Amino acid sequence: MSTTPTSSPRTVPCPPSPAGCGAPAGASCTSHGGTRERHNFHRARTAALEAARIAAVPAAKLVADTGAWVRHGKHAADLLDKNGFTVEAEQLRRAVSEANGHMSAKQAIAFLVDQAQGGEG
Ligand SMILES: [Zn+2]
Repeated sequence: MSTTPTSSPRTVPCPPSPAGCGAPAGASCTSHGGTRERHNFHRARTAALEAARIAAVPAAKLVADTGAWVRHGKHAADLLDKNGFTVEAEQLRRAVSEANGHMSAKQAIAFLVDQAQGGEG
């Protein structure tokens, strides 16, 4: 997993209680009604970050939104091709091939996000 600053749950607000603590972006998560600072983040906040990262990458968002029939990285690549994301489709096909065909749709989404946010330059 990436450890760049942009991948920290701290960069997004924590969802309100009961899923999270409602901490604003940049602030630590708290527990016990805000009296104690947590050393980790609420699951809901981590999920919110993941959703935000996916939303920022059109190709990844397409795969995530389509859901249902996309169960495999290969399907995701086909979907991308059909929707004009030919570069992303090609990158994904190569990654699936390198993984000997073992790539879930979920992993494909993570791959697309990493490519878009960390693979430039
Ligand atoms: Zn929180």
